Amino acid sequence: MADGRVALVTGSTRGIGWATARALARDGMTVVVCGRNSGTTTERAAQLESDFGVPAVGLACDVGEPASLDALFREIFQRYRRLDVAVANAGILRQDRLGMISPDAVAETFAVNLAGALNTVQAASRLMTRARRGSIILVSSIVGTNGNTGQAAYAASKAGILGIMRSAAKELAPLGIRVNAVAPGMIDTDMLRSLSPAWLEERLAGIGFGRFGLPEEVAEVIAFLASERASYVTGQVLGVDGGQVL
Ligand code: NAD
Repeated sequence: MADGRVALVTGSTRGIGWATARALARDGMTVVVCGRNSGTTTERAAQLESDFGVPAVGLACDVGEPASLDALFREIFQRYRRLDVAVANAGILRQDRLGMISPDAVAETFAVNLAGALNTVQAASRLMTRARRGSIILVSSIVGTNGNTGQAAYAASKAGILGIMRSAAKELAPLGIRVNAVAPGMIDTDMLRSLSPAWLEERLAGIGFGRFGLPEEVAEVIAFLASERASYVTGQVLGVDGGQVL
């Protein structure tokens, strides 16, 4: 049953974003599904409506393109005049050894993962300031604090997300807006499966629980941070890594 709250999840056509969109719809929110392909976003939104009985809309957006993000937020404002939850989830991973990282790969990784997240937080906070309430969640990674072989650009972007999160949390707390991050470990999605099986096998041994996480296990933590159950929580990073950092 829809309760009037509106949530945006960027990169929500699959993986962690899609699981998050489902968890927020289950919790009664109207969900804006966002991805680069308008056909897929529309299909996903229709699926949320039929599975959970809440309104949903699919809006195409490339978070790496500021003009595209602007258009997304204009559309959200025109449709709903409010935004209660924003999840900056869209992200890409380019796996390259240090000596092989190209300037284009760095630029693209930073444009999507870092500038995309910052611009999402900025635009979301403008909509939330009107109501003096809201919850923003950024999706960082265990790699942002620990680093990883072949992932220097990705690690930089995910570490940067924590700087954005902490700065925004400080700035927006007086306005009643909470800003937090999750730091997933290795989660079984298309992104993870794009890595070589041998590389994955090697890392499995370092995970306390001895298995990869499920997108739904990250989504539940995001749904908690999005909810009023986390009403006194801001500026925090919640790890979802099955004991990988212990
Ligand atoms: P995924 O590749 O399965 O899904 C990523 C989603 O983001 C897709 O829907 C894709 O279409 C969308 N996307 C990519 N670029 C976009 C852009 N420019 N504009 C709009 N949407 C875009 O990946 P995932 O594993 O679900 O990852 C989701 C987030 O979680 C990412 O930020 C990723 O870095 C982070 N993360 C993933 C893992 C993991 O092990 N899977 C671990 C830590 C953090």
